[in-house]
Amino acid sequence: MRILLLFLLVLLNAWLSDYLVENPDFYQLDAYTWESDEFRALRLGEAAAGLDTLDMDGLTSAMLAAEYDLTDADAEDLDPPAVNMALSRRPAEYRKLRNAYETIFADLRYFPIPLSENERTPPAVYENGWLDRRTYGGERGHEGCDIMGTALPRGSYPVVSITDGVVEKVGWLEKGGWRIGIRAPHGLYLYYAHLYDYARDWKEGDPVAAGQLLGFMGDTGYSAVEGTTGNFEVHLHVGMYLRTDHYDELSVNPYWVLKWLEKKRLKYNY
Ligand SMILES: [Zn+2]
Repeated sequence: MRILLLFLLVLLNAWLSDYLVENPDFYQLDAYTWESDEFRALRLGEAAAGLDTLDMDGLTSAMLAAEYDLTDADAEDLDPPAVNMALSRRPAEYRKLRNAYETIFADLRYFPIPLSENERTPPAVYENGWLDRRTYGGERGHEGCDIMGTALPRGSYPVVSITDGVVEKVGWLEKGGWRIGIRAPHGLYLYYAHLYDYARDWKEGDPVAAGQLLGFMGDTGYSAVEGTTGNFEVHLHVGMYLRTDHYDELSVNPYWVLKWLEKKRLKYNY
């Protein structure tokens, strides 16, 4: 009898591990998946970043199936599947993850640096520097994306709001310099740092429209002394944060989000 039970247990175990290997989206999903490092890296890839509109079910399913890395995915991989196993087996967890993606993408309208109407103005450039090493103020990972504007003097590149929203924080921060933080309607917090100057005298609670001029790209920060410049190259630091069950500010990688937004750039004369 005991031997039979043991045999059954071994069988069950083998079946279960096969099942999990064959169904990564089931395995990848729990109540706090959306607080994981894999989720936070937001590896959209070129195919997803190239789509005009992102379907949230397609994105959620594709991310689950590809273990949160769509950098090798095709556009077809993002079609909403007819039957989504993760949704049918774990609806609450699936919705949580989908909501997290919705919080991030629902309010995005414009790339933060408009193109110049002047063809000779060099465009601002950026790379994926997510969690790169930083040492000012202690050893840490870089929680954001830096859009570099070294081709022009500080204060030249305009910075516009990516979303509608409300000014939640504004003023000097030791690490961020002149910064402004905007809460978008679905809950995403967007942090724009190292500004040369503000476009106007922003106050907490001010409403902001997507595409509205916030200020100008600069190199302020890395000092307790207000207005300090020159401690690094001229750039806009973009940070994106979610409020989750366990974190007030959970940073997510803006790099692929910015790639997706490149199709949506305003034109300014500068
Ligand atoms: Zn940065």
